[in-house]
Amino acid sequence: MRKELKEYNFDWMLWSCFSAASRLKSGTEKEYQHMLRYIPYFRGVVETVLATGKPGQKFIEICAKYLDNLVNAKERGYKTAVTTFCFSPVIFYAMDIMPICLEVISVMLTFTYKRGSADFLDFCNEAGFTETSCSSQRGSLGAYLAGVGADIDMIVTDTPGVCDTNANAFSFAAAYLNKPFFQLDMPPDLTGNRSDEYHREDYKALIAFLEEHSGRKLDLEKLRATLQEAEKQDELIAELEDLARFVPNPLPVTYNFFVYASRFLFAGMPECTGVLEAMLEVAKQNALEGKSGIAGGTEKVRSFFCYIDHYVQSLKFWQMLDEYGICYQGNILSRSWASNAPHVKEYGTYEAAYSLHTDNLEKLIDDIALLNSRMPMIKSIRGPYDSPYMWLQDTLSLAKMYKADFIVYNGTPGCRNTWGMVKLLARDTEKEGFPTFIMYADAFDERVQSWETTRDRFLEFLTVRRLI
Ligand code: SF4
Repeated sequence: MRKELKEYNFDWMLWSCFSAASRLKSGTEKEYQHMLRYIPYFRGVVETVLATGKPGQKFIEICAKYLDNLVNAKERGYKTAVTTFCFSPVIFYAMDIMPICLEVISVMLTFTYKRGSADFLDFCNEAGFTETSCSSQRGSLGAYLAGVGADIDMIVTDTPGVCDTNANAFSFAAAYLNKPFFQLDMPPDLTGNRSDEYHREDYKALIAFLEEHSGRKLDLEKLRATLQEAEKQDELIAELEDLARFVPNPLPVTYNFFVYASRFLFAGMPECTGVLEAMLEVAKQNALEGKSGIAGGTEKVRSFFCYIDHYVQSLKFWQMLDEYGICYQGNILSRSWASNAPHVKEYGTYEAAYSLHTDNLEKLIDDIALLNSRMPMIKSIRGPYDSPYMWLQDTLSLAKMYKADFIVYNGTPGCRNTWGMVKLLARDTEKEGFPTFIMYADAFDERVQSWETTRDRFLEFLTVRRLI
């Protein structure tokens, strides 16, 4: 890794950027415009996010708060756990453990610097980890492997059987850094007594691991309070998802990202609730006025993203959606699998959903085990793509319900489990009448496909399929 990158603490460096960004709007508009000139690359993200008003402001503030918690975790008496986006942080917050979510931090880094996460991605390979792995962990993991980030106490993941490149990144990190390591396993069947029982017992073993390595017993009352907040968040998300069914959709393109990123950072914490409430307020007002959430004001066509988003090149992809009036009807990361989610009610898929019974202390651990097993990716990719409640069923039911005109797949070259089945999935979605576009860009590493090529191919698809 270049010497210059070791000069500053990695987490502090990111925190200082987000902390400054969260205060940019506290002056006059003239001062704000003047400041933007000093952040030529980050300004694309800052302007897009802050243009959404209160929700964007709150979102940048919680990013800064998360990084502040990370920088000061040890001084404040918290243990730290490196973890993944498909692992609900609720249990960590209930046990005073600071979750270090690698994928979210990689996105933050990609957003902030023109150089993106390349140096940290490559350092993982210098350290011996395969370059065919997912870029979303490597983008920030390199910093922790190089010892320029927070001091890590343990490593926890839940992706074996779902995404092996993800699982391998965490086991490599545990071996390289010599840290305690725990992974929840995901049986290929989502539903049924055997799977439910497996999830529960596995989760109890996780709690024993966390208690041993944090030196703290799980306080059920604290877990209950955290789950109550998560319940409130599920309600707010259900309302937002319901509003997204309107034509035009009153939700701005960026809202899906705010939903899942806020949950990955602060599920079960008031910070996440604050962002969701601010979003709901704006979305309700737009809906009352019959307004589209598209920045240009006119919804022309509706897209559903069956996998993840595209985070590099300073949010240009989302700016392009706005430019062409393309409404964003969610992706696999933004959907809730709580039993009150509109799509669960619409299709009656309660068996594949989770419910929280926070009035019953006995059931809390069972509930959180099932909540965790319905996290994005863990929920839909664990079994064959066309099995009940898996990727194909989820994609088609959501695309239909949200009246999408076409479907987009984007991931990373490391997504071996989805690359192995995406062409079959696209064949099936096309048969159902959805033009389906497979992107070959890397969601986190712009060296894989240039922005110009990404844009040209996307627009070519839209033109050839007569969508624009
Ligand atoms: S499925 Fe793809 S994006 Fe998700 S963790 Fe695995 S390799 Fe990364």
